[in-house]
Amino acid sequence: MIVILKENHTPQQFESLCGWLRAQKLDIQVNKGYRQTVLGLLGDTTQLDADLLRALEIVEEVKRVSEPYKKANRKFHPANTVIRVGGAEIGGGGEPVLIAGPCSVESREQILSVAHSVKEAGAKLLRGGAFKPRTSPYDFQGMRAEGIELLLEAKKETGLPIVTEIMDISQLPLFADVDVIQVGARNMQNFELLKELGRGSKPILLKRGLSSTVKELLMSAEYIMAGGNAQVILCERGIRTFETATRNTLDISVVPVLHELSHLPVIVDPSHATGIYRYVKPLAVAAVAAGADGLIIEVHNDPEHAMCDGPQSLKPEVFAEVAQMVRNVAPFAAR
Ligand code: PEP
Ligand code: MN
Repeated sequence: MIVILKENHTPQQFESLCGWLRAQKLDIQVNKGYRQTVLGLLGDTTQLDADLLRALEIVEEVKRVSEPYKKANRKFHPANTVIRVGGAEIGGGGEPVLIAGPCSVESREQILSVAHSVKEAGAKLLRGGAFKPRTSPYDFQGMRAEGIELLLEAKKETGLPIVTEIMDISQLPLFADVDVIQVGARNMQNFELLKELGRGSKPILLKRGLSSTVKELLMSAEYIMAGGNAQVILCERGIRTFETATRNTLDISVVPVLHELSHLPVIVDPSHATGIYRYVKPLAVAAVAAGADGLIIEVHNDPEHAMCDGPQSLKPEVFAEVAQMVRNVAPFAAR
């Protein structure tokens, strides 16, 4: 249930309302906007008399929320959440933030070279997988702890904050200096992992599962937020459909849908969505035009020899073109 308060209420009225609600065993999430204060009531509100609440002097409006995601819900929190990482601001209608780098960290030379090129092209964060979720156990599994060390070296050299994927709770100690922790599509419903990340305070880049609905994605965000960590970035990375011409089908429609349902930033990964580097540019532009708050794009200095996802990786010079196109399109984005 949400309770919208009148603009000119007194602190005494506010305290007395909160005391009354708490006495009914409800948790109160207070969202103070520029003008309005919105209370999100968490707990069993079925016994609460909405008409009685509505009749109080301090109350402007009361709405029952049927969606089970409360903290991720825009109704509870009308203002956009903006996540600040390094100098970048993700969400809130600013310039779309570019996150770029290789699928996997492969060597010091590779990650440093890609880090410098993507920074030059305008990326604000560096991505790179150290723990890789591969379909086959015989494929390259990532450089693991060493990969994170190399990412940290690239961060030190370029100043770019780093984003990398966690696959298991046991790996968490290695992520102490990682700026944004990625939860990959395959782990979107690893609820124990989500709960653990919810107890921390690092921004989480949460990718949509291969066959997950919008509601399931938001419920996974809710798992993280329920633990106290409100810093969640939602990421559309293509879903499984009957279509086989591309690796996945990019569901562009979730950009406005998620923005409507949630206050969390929404970014798009056109690389995993298509699987083919030639389609990354048009879909990156489409995502930004649809209002995405950022993009995460795979870039490799030598895609032909990449150990993972070479066919969808952009060469640095092509990434620079994409970055320029994104900047051209951004002012016309539908938000
Ligand atoms: C990745 O970003 O490297 C990755 C594995 O993505 P996804 O979880 O979307 O497949
Ligand atoms: Mn990849």
